[in-house]
Amino acid sequence: TERTLVLIKPDGVRRNLTGAILARVEAKGYVLAELKKMDATRELLEAHYAEHVGKPFYEPLVEFMLSGPIVAAVFEGQRVIEGFRSLAGTTEPTTAAPGTIRGDFGRDWGTKVQQNLVHGSDSAESAEREIGIWFGN
Ligand code: ATP
Repeated sequence: TERTLVLIKPDGVRRNLTGAILARVEAKGYVLAELKKMDATRELLEAHYAEHVGKPFYEPLVEFMLSGPIVAAVFEGQRVIEGFRSLAGTTEPTTAAPGTIRGDFGRDWGTKVQQNLVHGSDSAESAEREIGIWFGN
């Protein structure tokens, strides 16, 4: 079955939204396969965000992702990659649709990076790559 990497970013953990976010994913019917709380490292984030290295928001993004613990999870199920991204909502929390994680729990805070609570893999290839980065093989 398909797998996806879900990260609860430091803003979500700091605001004690871990349970609420995981509950939505489980309630949709996806199965939790792996779960851990951890601190990222610069090296890990450089691998995870390889496509963004050099962009204007890259350094603020790394600083944000290092600002506190992250909860990393693997969820499984048919079309879970698309399904989780639908649950998460669009990137910008201010305008993400109500009913989504970002739309219900997020907003803009005037920082250089979108603090948008969660990450979800965007394709089967990135899911396998990202699961390897955060959980090893
Ligand atoms: P989505 O694909 O749903 O937009 P994502 O997390 O996959 O979400 P990416 O485009 O991979 O988004 O960007 C990674 C992260 O970098 C975003 O989630 C957000 O925190 C931040 N980010 C992306 N683009 C910007 C931007 N233009 N300005 C500030 N922060 C950004």
